[in-house]
Amino acid sequence: MPDIMKMGKNPNYLGSWDLDEQPNREITLTIEKIIDEEVVTNGKSEKCTVIHWTDKSFKPMIANITNKKTLCKLYKTKETEKFVGKSVIIGIDKVKAFGDIYDALRIRKRIPQLATEIKPKCENCGCDICASGRMTPDQVASYTKNKYGQCLCSNCATALAQEARK
Ligand SMILES: [Zn+2]
Repeated sequence: MPDIMKMGKNPNYLGSWDLDEQPNREITLTIEKIIDEEVVTNGKSEKCTVIHWTDKSFKPMIANITNKKTLCKLYKTKETEKFVGKSVIIGIDKVKAFGDIYDALRIRKRIPQLATEIKPKCENCGCDICASGRMTPDQVASYTKNKYGQCLCSNCATALAQEARK
């Protein structure tokens, strides 16, 4: 049975109800592309600006003028290509319109903090692989993977190298 509150809305695009499961009803998504496309709602076709996400489990979002302005302010550009790969936080605001209050998707006016960088783990001792010399943790991981068949921290790699020399 269709939910009466969702009826008349376009199910192919992100709606406030899609955030119901999210903590604080907010979600951080990364922009894959922003394009104008024909959006058909209730048999009516309209050209809308649509934001597509890298995470395909979230539907693309129709960007209204408010959200477009927020986006431009956030990243200080109006060039669509420059938003590619940028992340935004989408939340819900109560908006008053036509004497009624409804939920509207809003791009938050803050740039999301990068998720704490996940460092690769040493497959031998289990600790975080740290940068070593000029190599980043990821480079150390792939270097040791190539050489020893395991991602190793520099301590374990050194120990193994010494072992091999015996
Ligand atoms: Zn280790």
